[in-house]
Amino acid sequence: MARVNEHYLKLKSSYLFSEIARRVRDFQAAHPEARIIRLGIGDVTRPLPPAVVRALHEAVDEMARAESFRGYGPETGYDFLTSLVAEHDYGALGVSVAPDEIFVSDGAKQDSGNIQEIFAPDCVVALTDPVYPVYLDSNVMAGRAGVLDDTGRYDRVAYLPCVAENGFRPPLPDRRVDLVYLCFPNNPTGAVLERDALRAWVEWARQHEAVLLFDAAYEAYIREPGVPHSIYEIEGAREVAVEFRSFSKSAGFTGTRCAFTVVPKEVAGRGPDGARVALNPLWFRRQSTKFNGVPYIVQKGAAAVYADEGRRQVRELIDFYMDNARIIRDGLEAAGLTVHGGRNAPYIWVKTPPGLSSWDFFDLLLTEAHVVGTPGSGFGPSGEGYFRLTGFGRREDTEEAVARIKTRLPR
Ligand code: PLP
Repeated sequence: MARVNEHYLKLKSSYLFSEIARRVRDFQAAHPEARIIRLGIGDVTRPLPPAVVRALHEAVDEMARAESFRGYGPETGYDFLTSLVAEHDYGALGVSVAPDEIFVSDGAKQDSGNIQEIFAPDCVVALTDPVYPVYLDSNVMAGRAGVLDDTGRYDRVAYLPCVAENGFRPPLPDRRVDLVYLCFPNNPTGAVLERDALRAWVEWARQHEAVLLFDAAYEAYIREPGVPHSIYEIEGAREVAVEFRSFSKSAGFTGTRCAFTVVPKEVAGRGPDGARVALNPLWFRRQSTKFNGVPYIVQKGAAAVYADEGRRQVRELIDFYMDNARIIRDGLEAAGLTVHGGRNAPYIWVKTPPGLSSWDFFDLLLTEAHVVGTPGSGFGPSGEGYFRLTGFGRREDTEEAVARIKTRLPR
């Protein structure tokens, strides 16, 4: 019988979302009259912008005619999209990224999970804690994480605690690390890294010959001036950083699927003989071997985001979710809770009241206000004592959930 990849057996079970579902199910069964509102949702709820929908329809019609039909496209994306990305996402920031450094894909989840394949199995990985679970689990699967200890940490991973005391900014590693996943604006804390903090990371990576894997999936939510939208706004970052972006949370593509990863020509690792090896051709090889490109139709939809009308509509979508985030922030603060995030990200990171764990607070909100969020401890050990709510819900639900929390939570 074939032996399985034993590293998969080291994964923590996906306890978080199944446990949430179980508790909600049990509560609903006992209280069938309760209208439960889900504010823990990490998915968008508004439809695609009309300019995108129009472009998708037009592309479908092209596929219906022999003279404009297209089969396999370039594995790394059509030029019409990569050149728009280079111009609007980077050129507009004063950053130079060439179209052949941009790899269009079907998701930042896939890319941030797959990128570790081009690095050696014994590379040491650092993660912010709490963290988007994909970075950790993909490294567990690859055998890079070691074993789970009794504090809920894998013994070969460097955890960088992001807590209120450090403003949710990860400390620089105090031991040798090869790869660092940074996600800013952050899921789940909603924190951002200002220019100085990002500069410190780039300098550290250059000094220690580490690679930064920078997930900017929520870049479009940055509101405050002066917060970098791309790591390449920092001098020297092209030598040490890969950047992930996505159309999911900006243009509502969570179900449509389009994203891209930037691998500059300068960023490198080392081969077995110690010689520098550029990552761009390795990622090209990986993608062109294992991926056949994003559908033409979808890339046409994504390209529509860069025209005036598409840009305005995307801005409106983000404004909508950020208004929800503000409603949640203001309401919870009025209810006497300590609230972080929600200013440059759709995520609101709530400190649980004294004496309540993340799960205690989950139960309290569910039973008293019939509101469901996500216990912070599910995102990593340093998430204990926090709770995540999101601005992705419907407006009426968001307002009602906040009103219930304000009136029904014990003071
Ligand atoms: N990166 C982060 C930090 C996320 O929170 C998410 C989705 O929740 C993703 C990536 C996934 O993006 P995509 O839909 O492009 O796969």
